[in-house]
Amino acid sequence: MKKIIGLILALTIYSSAFSQVRTSDLHVTYIANEGFMLKTKHHKILIDALFTDGYGYFATPTKELLDQIMNAKAPFDSINFCFLTHYHKDHSDSKLMNDYLSKFPSAKLITTKPSLVFIDGEQFRFVKLQKQFCELTPETNKSIKRTIDNVTVTALGLKHMSYIEDGIDIEQYMKNVGFYINMDGVRIFHSGDTKMEQFKDYMAKNGQWKEPVNVAFVNYELLNGGKVDLDYLKKTLNPKYIIVMHVPPTLYEEWAKKVEQLKQTFPGIILFKDALESKTLNCNF
Ligand SMILES: [Zn+2]
Repeated sequence: MKKIIGLILALTIYSSAFSQVRTSDLHVTYIANEGFMLKTKHHKILIDALFTDGYGYFATPTKELLDQIMNAKAPFDSINFCFLTHYHKDHSDSKLMNDYLSKFPSAKLITTKPSLVFIDGEQFRFVKLQKQFCELTPETNKSIKRTIDNVTVTALGLKHMSYIEDGIDIEQYMKNVGFYINMDGVRIFHSGDTKMEQFKDYMAKNGQWKEPVNVAFVNYELLNGGKVDLDYLKKTLNPKYIIVMHVPPTLYEEWAKKVEQLKQTFPGIILFKDALESKTLNCNF
């Protein structure tokens, strides 16, 4: 009898270990620029995915792809959350966001107050959808953590990368946040539009990064310094995978070569090229 109990126990431990392996996958589908659909065992999210304008420079989703998303055609069915890092046009289109939330009342939007105010200014009565809003507005270099429908989200006050013109930072009013998301045990970091200077500022004010990161989605400007920046990201976030985002199509070939080189020291670095390209990443440590 003891032997049988022992066997059952062993099988239970084995099968739960096995199911853990299978539940820790992250399915990543590239949309455009910093836009992705991310899927874990029980959740599916869009991040910076609903937009049409690339300022003539950045990658944009095609009309067909947007139609597919807006009509919840597979694989874009049953989306739980839309995350938005900031409201620059190459990340967000206010009409698409308003239409999406109106059409899918179970979908929630996770973003900052400035983003909500901006969309509301462009889309009259947007605020009537406020039951679907999860507003997280950390101050620069601070963070706010909240659990929403079993997904733990930390909005990271990563300042939008600066562009100085005539001594003025023309991005000082653009509120950007990064996200740290724990979705079914898969831990995701998304930088939004920040570069190394701002990321280092954040780290300096917050001390050591303590949480595990399986997949870090980083703006390519966080890797402008090549291996030095990669080493810093490894030292701070220690991710298993790094996905390079926001590479303008005109710089794609150059960055594809850079990423190939960085792969020699960090095999988990990935650069997507075409819309709807997808990868399943095993997020076990
Ligand atoms: Zn931006």
